[in-house]
Amino acid sequence: MLKKLFFVLLLSFPILVFAQNKDKIAIAIHGGAGTIKKENLTPELEKAYHQALDQALEAGYAVLEKGGTSLEAIETAIKILEDSPLFNAGKGAVFANNGKNELDAAVMDGKTGKAGAVAGVTNVKNPILAARAVMEKSEHVMLTGKGAEEFAQKQGLEIVDPSYFRTESRFQQLEKARKADQDTTGSIELEKAYKYGTVGAVALDQYGNLAAGTSTGGMTNKKYGRVGDAPIIGAGTYADNQTCAVSCTGHGEYFIRAVVGHEISALMKYKKYSLKKATETVIFDQLKPIGGEGGLIAVDKKGNVSLPFNSLGMYRGYKKANGEKKTAIF
Ligand code: ASP
Repeated sequence: MLKKLFFVLLLSFPILVFAQNKDKIAIAIHGGAGTIKKENLTPELEKAYHQALDQALEAGYAVLEKGGTSLEAIETAIKILEDSPLFNAGKGAVFANNGKNELDAAVMDGKTGKAGAVAGVTNVKNPILAARAVMEKSEHVMLTGKGAEEFAQKQGLEIVDPSYFRTESRFQQLEKARKADQDTTGSIELEKAYKYGTVGAVALDQYGNLAAGTSTGGMTNKKYGRVGDAPIIGAGTYADNQTCAVSCTGHGEYFIRAVVGHEISALMKYKKYSLKKATETVIFDQLKPIGGEGGLIAVDKKGNVSLPFNSLGMYRGYKKANGEKKTAIF
């Protein structure tokens, strides 16, 4: 009798564990931070942003709900944001000074500590898929430029003509930035909104695994093969099952110097900070004083989410198993 009871308990244990963890699944996404002013957004555009964020959020959450992994969920959400011309990633990416769209992306798996990234790719339709392929199908962490493109092609990923990424509004932003570059009087005030963008997602799945991913066109008018924080593991993208998953957006140079993703994880790991305290400490106390404008999204192993930013706005959203859900801009 006792033996029977033991077996019943043993068999139901995994079910109990999964059931418990299903209550904690969570996903958060961002579509970039910066000087986003309400007066610059028409009601139609504002609605379009909310709709795109909502679509990505729901698609990512559905993956988690069906028992998919956090990696699958973030990839699903990011791919939707990359395909939308509204965001500075994939189609709609900003232009580098040379008139090209040079894309960066990264993913990190909090369970294994494995990571993959691509930088400066110009013809891979969904750079986030290339980043994941680097993580899973190569012995490297980061591939750049032509090599990354060759690898993506060999992996069977969709390759497009570079003109696919072009949108007229982004090209106008480049023209404006180029003019500001040549202007010695300083009379051309460049809207910082023109500079930032980026998309990202972080998630916790029902198996207790965290994952983070980020994809971007970088910053308008970037030069000399500049690479931002997004594909730098530990800076713009980081995940560790013991602590949290983080994806950043903002002025990349500052995020690299402050090693933002890893810093948040370290504050939680060694100083036992909560997710909220760790993320807000880095955004407001470390980045803001040095002029590092931007924000981030993060989720911890308990399913808490935090989405702090020190800029005027950040396109963002999250959904949790307890029914909490929100998309916001300001
Ligand atoms: N962080 C990105 C970069 O510096 C830009 C952004 O988030 O908009 O490349």
